Amino acid sequence: MAESPRCGVCGRPVLPTDATTHRQGLLVHVACVGARKPEAKIDGPMKNRRDAHGLPLCPVCDQRIGVTEAAARVGEYMVHIGCTPEARRRRDRASSQ
Ligand SMILES: [Zn+2]
Ligand SMILES: [Zn+2]
Repeated sequence: MAESPRCGVCGRPVLPTDATTHRQGLLVHVACVGARKPEAKIDGPMKNRRDAHGLPLCPVCDQRIGVTEAAARVGEYMVHIGCTPEARRRRDRASSQ
């Protein structure tokens, strides 16, 4: 069984149904190309924004949390399981200010 290629930005598997593009020779999600810039804003209070389909966006990586994806709750927010440590770090940093 072939493994899915990984996105060069978010490191998550690139599914055949995902919109993809190339960045510096790496295969990346189209959504990830624009996902890097708002990083300063992510330091603020975390919110679950929603994408055009009403799916929640992970506040850590700014990728949508699909219904089939493993998610965890950190405080009031849903994040990917893999994003939990970073979400906790950000929450703790925000609450210590
Ligand atoms: Zn990606
Ligand atoms: Zn995430």
